[in-house]
Amino acid sequence: MTTLVLHRASLGPGREADVVVRHGRIAEVTAVGRATGDDRVDLGGRPLLPGLVDHHVHLFASAASLRSVDLGPAALVAAGGLDAALRAARARTPHGWLRGVGYDVAASGPLDRDRLDRVGVGPLRIQDRTGILWFLDGRALAAVVDDDPSRWPDGLEQADGRPTGVLRRLDHWLGHRLPSSTLDLDEVGRLLVAAGVTAVMDAGADNDRASLLALAAAGLPCRLHAMTRDAVVDPVDGVAVGPVKILLDDADLPALDDVVDRVRAARAAGRGVAVHCVSEVQLALALAAGVGPGDRIEHASMVSAGALRPLAEAGPTLVLQPALVRTRGDRYLAETDPADRPALHRSASFRRAGLWIAASSDAPYGPSDPWTAITAAVERRTAGGRSFGPDEAITATEALASWTGAPDDPAVPRTIEPGDDADLVVLDADWSELARSPEILTTVVGGDVVHGRWPTP
Ligand SMILES: [Zn+2]
Repeated sequence: MTTLVLHRASLGPGREADVVVRHGRIAEVTAVGRATGDDRVDLGGRPLLPGLVDHHVHLFASAASLRSVDLGPAALVAAGGLDAALRAARARTPHGWLRGVGYDVAASGPLDRDRLDRVGVGPLRIQDRTGILWFLDGRALAAVVDDDPSRWPDGLEQADGRPTGVLRRLDHWLGHRLPSSTLDLDEVGRLLVAAGVTAVMDAGADNDRASLLALAAAGLPCRLHAMTRDAVVDPVDGVAVGPVKILLDDADLPALDDVVDRVRAARAAGRGVAVHCVSEVQLALALAAGVGPGDRIEHASMVSAGALRPLAEAGPTLVLQPALVRTRGDRYLAETDPADRPALHRSASFRRAGLWIAASSDAPYGPSDPWTAITAAVERRTAGGRSFGPDEAITATEALASWTGAPDDPAVPRTIEPGDDADLVVLDADWSELARSPEILTTVVGGDVVHGRWPTP
């Protein structure tokens, strides 16, 4: 039986201990110098953290976006416009489909098949920055859309009986019609553990058993949890099932009874729900449907002051994306009424109101690195350097804590305690550097090093 002693681990400013790991778990936390074991690693007073958990991430979309053409506003400026960006992408990838991501309709103009056919580099599909819309050119449409209009799905936009190339919320439908690619999660997994993430919650609203099997088969180096569409799903080895995902869309809100039924079905299966709420009306619907303790509100990116108390009384956990202050803040400042801004991406006021809070990336729709989000939560600065809701700033310790809750209890930060899984991160930095993207020296899952190395004397 191998016993690993992590000697001189800093568990907080001025608090050093020896941490003993056995059988993949924390066996003991004891005074420095007291622990004995076969393997001994001197951490030299470096911070030892519970492994970070990304509580809301889209793994396959992240993998796809790593291999996609960035068509966000900054990338388009750098490339010399959309046509030039697409032609350059076609030159790099002479055959098959092209996939563009991050397109911003408000900043870069509307898209449809006719606009894309004029570039003439298809088949081509472009996702808008929110992930809600896809734009397809004529060749792409011909490959995925049935000749018989009676079989066209809702969400396939038409004009004069012809698809315009705009698809709304048809991710899953489209995914089943594309040529199957071997989309692996290797690079996504490497990036996660390199950032100190030891567990993830895949937030796919359409996750079914096939999705869980595909996720499990990817062999991620961290622990894997996933939301699912249905309340009852046959178990899949290697994936822990999280809450039932309920996606709401302002343009097509379900009836309250339908949401209530889904909440009841989740309860009957012993599960919570995770309700996508990016607007006030979605939040009101979730509250009316009875979300409560053990349930989650995803995003909570727009919450008026009047909704704070009902949320606190209902008791769900809010799973936020603090990094969006950085990546979307400049747009909010340009496009929103100043009177509406206090409702956007709250953080400190949620805490003051006594709400349960956790953080996440929502990658690829937000940056995947938790440390970008921790910095944004502390500094409340946009990418352009402007201050955004500075009174919503929280401390670096609070920001980090929102990434260390267990996947099934996101708002309660883990500490390093005997009996816990040895999912750990060693920083090559000081506690004062948490909000400055500290260097991750070692990431450990179940006692095994999955990124970096142990420090050498
Ligand atoms: Zn999401």
